[in-house]
Amino acid sequence: MARACTLIPGDGIGPDITDATLAILDAAGADFDWDRQVAGAAGVEQTGTPMPDETLDSIKRTRLALKGPLETPVGEGYRSVNVALRQTFDLYANVRPARDIVPGGRYDGVDIVLIRENTEDLYAGLEHYIRIGEDPQAAAESIALITRVGSERIVRYAFDYALRHGRKKVTLVHKANILKYSQGLFRAMGQKVAKEYEGKLAYDERIVDAAAMQLVLDPGRFDVLVTTNMFGDILSDLVSGLVGGLGLAPGSNIGRDAAIFEAVHGTAPDIAGQGIANPGALLLAACLMLDHVGDRFRADRVRRALESTIREGKVLTRDLGGSATTREFADAVISHLA
Ligand code: NAD
Repeated sequence: MARACTLIPGDGIGPDITDATLAILDAAGADFDWDRQVAGAAGVEQTGTPMPDETLDSIKRTRLALKGPLETPVGEGYRSVNVALRQTFDLYANVRPARDIVPGGRYDGVDIVLIRENTEDLYAGLEHYIRIGEDPQAAAESIALITRVGSERIVRYAFDYALRHGRKKVTLVHKANILKYSQGLFRAMGQKVAKEYEGKLAYDERIVDAAAMQLVLDPGRFDVLVTTNMFGDILSDLVSGLVGGLGLAPGSNIGRDAAIFEAVHGTAPDIAGQGIANPGALLLAACLMLDHVGDRFRADRVRRALESTIREGKVLTRDLGGSATTREFADAVISHLA
């Protein structure tokens, strides 16, 4: 039976890459019953709000969404819908796999999954100014909230993910040498959970600064990484950079009651409406969604077709060094479906 899934094509290049992704998923036999909804700028245009109730109700019902990029006005205007969706549905795990597909890049053999805690730490929004004398904003304080419950659930998620995906090792990234309480708590929960997986998965730890250097020097030594919110935010872009940037970087936001899959990149206003965007990142996000609903077979089928198309190098979008349109690239991927 078809799996119900909310579909938010998004803004800018979103509708183009969504059409291409759906065409490829259809050709691969993926069985989704799409419930099309709007958010972001398209939401404002069609319903007067960037996060319409119908869209939220749809995700509550389907518990699954594939989402194109959404425009967030800089400085003023509405808050980021992406952040609001993460908070509304308590999507605590941000999962970003990074694997080198394009041959001849800076590194070969990179195959890393970075799992970032998505709700706590400095991003919990606990900030305030401190008045000193006449100056009401003499200092600012931001609280890095780390909880035992939040740490345990993200580390457990990382270990379960590693087991489910045939991975060998989980590396916990922290800064407990300096932040002995907050980062120390996260690390302690890592060690507790790791004991339960002894014999099944290897476990090690890195201090975040050393992890950043080692990722650049020798990314092949890492497998699954798990870390707190801000370190994860920074390291996940670093890891995307190792494999050629944002054009092929998918992400997922997973909670107990819902999961939202998306490309890491934005609405690409500079090329919007031209039909030349690379649909690869959204397609790979759809593959993560297929993995999530247990359809590894089709996920692997689509990933293999995308990789063959890129390795063959005949039909590539401009960001990959070619001149094909989004649709031509999608058709090439479809022709590689085995
Ligand atoms: P961007 O990712 O949209 O664009 C950065 C550069 O990468 C541009 O040159 C763009 O043309 C290129 N690019 C991005 N995706 C591409 C693709 N699929 N194919 C080919 N080239 C691609 O980043 P930005 O310009 O900083 O942000 C634009 C808008 O997107 C902003 O409103 C921002 O808030 C929003 N945004 C949304 C998300 C999201 O919804 N998850 C993420 C990031 C940015």
